Amino acid sequence: MAARAEALGQGLTAGRGARTVRLGVTGLSRAGKTVFITALVANLLDRGRMPGLRAAAEGRVLAAFLQPQPDDTVPRFDYESHLAALTGPDPHWPEGTRAISELRLSLRVAPSGLLAALSGERRVNIDIVDYPGEWLLDLALMEVDFADWSKEVLARIAPRAEAAGYRQALADFDPAAPFAEPAARDLARSYAHYLAAAKASGYSDCAPGRFLLPGELEGSPVLTFAPLPRPDAAPRGSMWHEMSRRFEAYKAKVVRPFFRDHFAKIDRQIVLVDVLGAIHSGPRAVEDLRGAMEGVLRAFRPGRPGWLAALIGGRRVERILFAATKADHLHHSQHAPLTRFLSGLLRSARDRADFAGADTAAMAIAALRATVEETHQRGGEAVDCVRGRLLDSGREAALFPGELPDSPAAMLAEAHDGAERWLDADYAVMAFAPARLVLRPGEGPPHIRLDRAAEFLIGDLL
Ligand code: GDP
Repeated sequence: MAARAEALGQGLTAGRGARTVRLGVTGLSRAGKTVFITALVANLLDRGRMPGLRAAAEGRVLAAFLQPQPDDTVPRFDYESHLAALTGPDPHWPEGTRAISELRLSLRVAPSGLLAALSGERRVNIDIVDYPGEWLLDLALMEVDFADWSKEVLARIAPRAEAAGYRQALADFDPAAPFAEPAARDLARSYAHYLAAAKASGYSDCAPGRFLLPGELEGSPVLTFAPLPRPDAAPRGSMWHEMSRRFEAYKAKVVRPFFRDHFAKIDRQIVLVDVLGAIHSGPRAVEDLRGAMEGVLRAFRPGRPGWLAALIGGRRVERILFAATKADHLHHSQHAPLTRFLSGLLRSARDRADFAGADTAAMAIAALRATVEETHQRGGEAVDCVRGRLLDSGREAALFPGELPDSPAAMLAEAHDGAERWLDADYAVMAFAPARLVLRPGEGPPHIRLDRAAEFLIGDLL
């Protein structure tokens, strides 16, 4: 019995023959979380398109079904609406993740191997927890006070054109003045506008995470603050004093509860990264994404802050998969370089201390393949293209996205030397609509490596 309990693994719970695993899905906004979860669940429910998931290939997944989730107060992931968007008569991309949500998928699995004759069917509950990667970036706020945070942010955004409006707003703002809600609200809005503009320009350092995705906290005092230059004197009741208090409230009432109630319970994690988008935006966006991913991944590392270690206790995340999404924008010959680029991007974070014993892997995936591959002759040369339906015109086009840089380091070094550009060819117009599902023999599965991702994340439990 003890051996069996141990075999279930740390963090997994057994009860009435069922195992439960909490699978975290995160990544910065537009990394592909919503499409990933929808496609994963659809392909597990509708078996037969996941040959790389061993239990599925062996025909041991006997049934798959959705069930009520265990957490009554967490919004349910709206699987049905997202699937309808992707697979309806006019397929379109669903609205992305804006806050945490959850979905329980249960599988009935036949045993494998030597124990097959001795043990019966098992139930595995997979509680998929979707949450914005921006919320993990808030971890960095926990270690600073309002004065240090303000100083650091104001210095960082000083050279950015996107922050011009905020700088102007600050010029007319007196931090030592008596607190007034309308002025505080206007300043917080101006800062949120800056964050949205920075995000649109490809910056990833967009903390506090809830400013961009406020959900039900919109307009509440915990989100009505902004970085301020420190005044010589900041009496009680001043703007500075009250915003400083709200900053602390954000940490205590928003950031900490998320880590305690959700993050601390995750057993397996996938971190989705829109590497291609960043490469296309250029070296600055890649460097910024690298920094943001380092921030995101801090939460998983042994060197994490004491308060978080205490919340997590003896539990640990057992497996972490890093996935470069939207790989269907590239011909498969470029998937290996894409994976290498992702590994290079995460190297500093991965090297530092690994992940407290978690198994990690990196791969390039497309949760929903929107293209097919074609080789065209251009100027006497064979060019590996991908063909899909363009989102704006509905027209079919075969496009060549351009070359991937060898590594983030090479990209940054070359960018230093001159005007080298990457993914510049047709990539700028590569906004494909989701493909209509055509499951003709020989067409291949409607995803790229979604099954291998599932095998890494949960295959050992099936
Ligand atoms: P989220 O903000 O992390 O939930 O991101 P979404 O899942 O909403 O994805 C953001 C956008 O990326 C989508 O609207 C699609 O345009 C694109 N996308 C996501 N996954 C894929 C994929 O597998 N293939 C392609 N071609 N595009 C994708």
